[in-house]
Amino acid sequence: MPNPVGAVSLLSTGIVEIRRQHVESDGSPLLWWLLTARDWSGPRPINVYVIEHEQGLVLFDTGQDRASVTDPNYFPGGIPGFLYRRLARFEIGGRETLTQRLVGLGYDIADVRWAVLSHLHQDHIGGLRELKHAEIIASAAEWASLNRPDAALQGLMRRHIDLPGLSWRLLQFPSGQGEPIGPFDSSYDLFDDGSLVLVPTPGHTPGSVSLLVRREGKPPLLMVGDVSYAEDLLRRERIPGIGKRKGLLATTRAINTLRAAYPDLVILPAHDPGAADRLAAAGGADLRARNDSQPFGGSGPRGTGHQNH
Ligand SMILES: [Zn+2]
Repeated sequence: MPNPVGAVSLLSTGIVEIRRQHVESDGSPLLWWLLTARDWSGPRPINVYVIEHEQGLVLFDTGQDRASVTDPNYFPGGIPGFLYRRLARFEIGGRETLTQRLVGLGYDIADVRWAVLSHLHQDHIGGLRELKHAEIIASAAEWASLNRPDAALQGLMRRHIDLPGLSWRLLQFPSGQGEPIGPFDSSYDLFDDGSLVLVPTPGHTPGSVSLLVRREGKPPLLMVGDVSYAEDLLRRERIPGIGKRKGLLATTRAINTLRAAYPDLVILPAHDPGAADRLAAAGGADLRARNDSQPFGGSGPRGTGHQNH
């Protein structure tokens, strides 16, 4: 079987800090900890995964928009705006946009042909403005959440998502569709070659999806968005504080069950400080260029220099 997947790397569009109960639920209700938390979790990455496929460059998630720290009107006003400020704080430098970070990896934003969104929260949709030439892929269930009357309170800012000029592909996951992937009974194969396969992983949001990347001779990768904020928490079935508990637990268990089929599976959450090192150790290090300014180490093991391929 030919290997359609080339280098897999990651970049981070700045850093985010969230609350302890957001990283790992302590059972208290969301509104309680959101209003009472005093401390922040320490800096975490806002990962965008960059996958070279023989048909073109694919992104998994698009990061946080720098406008969110420079434009006072980026967030909604009133109570939703207050809650967004309590939820997370961001630091995004002038060279930490999606476009600039891709340059740091040796790519041009124009190279991106597809961007898959794990879900539609702010720190995953931030690059959409820069991707009008690409096709944007998300789940239909996630898109449907945009129409909820409380969408803004659910973390969905429609005016930064439903942008003019974007082309969307919205996926359904009816039971029995596609290849069963371990305990997942429906899937969507992006290129019909088995290399990049999406599975529904609801819980954090109703329409969250994860991306399985299968590569010849290298461990498979599972990019999980915000199903978890740290691989070790996911392994111990500790769930984050945002989302529906039942769905998060079921998805977490399904992912852990998937390890039976893929014992060397590498789990890559969007905001896991350990993700860059795990990706590098899994042979995701075929970097075309190193990016030393990445706060979480870029995706190459430090000191390897760069490899052409
Ligand atoms: Zn999220």
